[in-house]
Amino acid sequence: MAHPLKHAESSAKKFGGRAEDYLPIHNWFDESKAFLADFRHRALRHHAEGIFLAEELFGVAIVNSDGKQIPVRYVGEQHVREDLGRIPTAQDWLLQIKPQRWMYGQRLDEETPSKEEFL
Ligand SMILES: [Zn+2]
Repeated sequence: MAHPLKHAESSAKKFGGRAEDYLPIHNWFDESKAFLADFRHRALRHHAEGIFLAEELFGVAIVNSDGKQIPVRYVGEQHVREDLGRIPTAQDWLLQIKPQRWMYGQRLDEETPSKEEFL
């Protein structure tokens, strides 16, 4: 599953109400696609911690157009499961990063201005 609207339609089928009720939550999960246009964008929000962050942003529950309270966490879990088949942790994603020297906070020699550049 890829597009937020597809996730929203799936939410309406699962929880009732209309797709539009859920679209803001699904859009939020996939906004990171603006930073990287392939599946790796999911590393930013498609994990357990992202689901809890969605809950902080959207509230514990939304009221759908049927007047029914739907926990935001359930909607987030549905989104991540539909994309990944499971709910990873942020650590699962972060451990896949190949460490680079600059990530340790060390400046590369060529980034350090030489004394002559100040004169
Ligand atoms: Zn997604």
